[in-house]
Amino acid sequence: MNKSFTDREKGILERLKKEGSASIQELAEALSVSTMTIHRDLNRLEKMGHVRKRHGSAALADTEPELVKNPCAMCGKSTVGRKVFIVHLASGEQKNACCAHCGLMLQTQSRGIWQSMTMDFLHGHMISANQAIYLTGCDLNVCCVPTILTFGSRLEALRFQSGFGGKLASMEEAIQFLLG
Ligand SMILES: [Zn+2]
Ligand SMILES: [Zn+2]
Repeated sequence: MNKSFTDREKGILERLKKEGSASIQELAEALSVSTMTIHRDLNRLEKMGHVRKRHGSAALADTEPELVKNPCAMCGKSTVGRKVFIVHLASGEQKNACCAHCGLMLQTQSRGIWQSMTMDFLHGHMISANQAIYLTGCDLNVCCVPTILTFGSRLEALRFQSGFGGKLASMEEAIQFLLG
């Protein structure tokens, strides 16, 4: 788990993050290496728990149950459900949080962050925590209080807000809200 990502592995993960999944052929072409090389990289990434391979293609493993069942690194709660927040460190290590509340706390306390992912509350897929729309302090208590939910779409976040209250925020503003 202490192994760092190589630049090529980072390239593969970036691409899978953007596309959702990619064939080994596509990855080989995108990164200008042989399919054998991509196979080797994917095997290593799969062992580390970051990707999953299937029929000649690969996808991010973020929402795989065996990863999501790791307890929250902040409060120890289960991380199963529509609200997991994952902090990926440059070392290859991954820290899970039960919700964006704990996730943002974890993020402010972690060093060497490569990227953080949070789950879109409505659709259940992972999105970049930097780009997510945060809804702070709404009336729905799903996990840790004050509640922070994350959405991929501003429009959906607004609709949700009209029902449950709270305030829309960027990641920075949500951190301020928590530490306030
Ligand atoms: Zn937690
Ligand atoms: Zn929580």
